[in-house]
Amino acid sequence: MSEQRAHPYRVDPDRLAGAADEPLFRAVAEEARVHGIPAFAIGGYVRDRLIDRPCKDIDFVVEGDGIAFAQAVARRLNAGQVHVFKNFGTAMFRWQDMDIEFVGARRESYRRDSRKPQVEPGTIRDDQERRDFTINALAISLEPGSVGALVDPFGGLLDLGQGIIRTPLDPDTTFSDDPLRMLRAVRFATQLGFTIDPICFSSIKRNAARLEIISAERIHTELNKIIAAPKPSIGFILLLESGLLEHFLPEMIELLGAEEKDGIGHKDNFYHTIQVLDNVAGQSDDLWLRWAAILHDIAKPRTKRFEAGHGWTFHGHEDKGARMVPGIFRRLKLPLDNKMRKVQNLVALHLRPIALTKEEVSDSAIRRLLFDAGDDLEALMVLCKADITSKNEKKKKRYLSNYELVMRKLAEVEEKDRIRNFQPPVTGEDIMAAFGIPPSRPIGDIKTTIKEAILDGRIRNDRAQAWELMKEEGAKLGLELKPGFEVPPPDR
Ligand code: ATP
Ligand code: MG
Repeated sequence: MSEQRAHPYRVDPDRLAGAADEPLFRAVAEEARVHGIPAFAIGGYVRDRLIDRPCKDIDFVVEGDGIAFAQAVARRLNAGQVHVFKNFGTAMFRWQDMDIEFVGARRESYRRDSRKPQVEPGTIRDDQERRDFTINALAISLEPGSVGALVDPFGGLLDLGQGIIRTPLDPDTTFSDDPLRMLRAVRFATQLGFTIDPICFSSIKRNAARLEIISAERIHTELNKIIAAPKPSIGFILLLESGLLEHFLPEMIELLGAEEKDGIGHKDNFYHTIQVLDNVAGQSDDLWLRWAAILHDIAKPRTKRFEAGHGWTFHGHEDKGARMVPGIFRRLKLPLDNKMRKVQNLVALHLRPIALTKEEVSDSAIRRLLFDAGDDLEALMVLCKADITSKNEKKKKRYLSNYELVMRKLAEVEEKDRIRNFQPPVTGEDIMAAFGIPPSRPIGDIKTTIKEAILDGRIRNDRAQAWELMKEEGAKLGLELKPGFEVPPPDR
């Protein structure tokens, strides 16, 4: 953990040069002068400006009443409505596409059992001390006489230049006061490609268990930001090595390690998983597809068997894994709606495309995959390709060419049979009208038979052929066709 990572940002203090002349900062500085209240831009905005990273919100701290100050600045700028959050002592308004927020500088003191501090008014220095990291504690002065100057009591500029995440105070204090900051350290390290200072990192290891007082929502918010980063594996390795991961995703820890028996090993599924995650991240920003990558092999430890003479198997890990998804999502308070169902579906199907190439690729198997994947097909194919992590170049080449073959077949069959957004060519209403029967079991049975016949390729996906099959199936069930329904009515 001690070696430093190369990061892509270059710090340039000259990027603050023009700040004093920009309308927003001029307005804040004017109000600060008129009322004699020290005011500062602070936090993420200052950090991002120094490294030329886009940032859509600006936080200001004033040594005084932040709400009244916000209202005065908004008036001066002719900005829209000011939203006041009395409980937090903050006020914000939108201006030129940015969220501008004001708060009074504060001191905080914490009790051990809560991350809700007792808050009192304080100075800018107090306010900077309670920030999580030196790079997040940087401020730009808007006080008369020093407008535009950097206020940097903790060496944040240097840390920003060197790409180091470090706490302003003793890390044990910072992390135990608010354990969420440990996850934020990993999050910033992942997003920015920075290194967590070794002293800070050992403090995280010591305090990892304190995560228990953090709500699942706050944990998943940071976790999702890690997952959404360009190279999420950085974050997962840090989460693993810090001991944080086991507190909210212990299933992933079980993926670690490779067992060997009779000289046969299997791959380490933790490192395989985060490699797949990085591969997916290179192709798609879809957060739920990235979650599917994280969970695609999650049931491998629970399905692992050694079969003598054959080697390691993980039979059924895709179904068992899909069944594990709701429990994990519920525990992390992630959405349980169609987003979760997408993750489940992708986990369940992740072996299907490649499995297709093992045997003769029949059109019917392709049709079934198209039907089962539906709207998730593109995501599934991205996952499937990302899952090819073999270090053996020959194997990798073979897998990739199999993958291309399946892609071609999928396109061919879909063009011919239009299965992906399958609408039954004969509906329940059709069947009720044709046989003059009320809603009942035979209707479902006939529909299923028609769908299966289409997927198997026994009939084409069209109304005329489906109608014939409906008549046959009805006859088998002793249903009598109403006159005039020998051919399908044109109006549907
Ligand atoms: P981003 O907006 O990209 O997530 P950010 O640094 O702006 O990054 P925010 O969560 O918006 O992060 O917080 C704004 C600022 O508030 C931070 O830069 C930091 O100074 C401070 N801050 C936020 N959360 C905490 C915390 N849990 N403990 C201490 N300071 C915090
Ligand atoms: Mg922010």
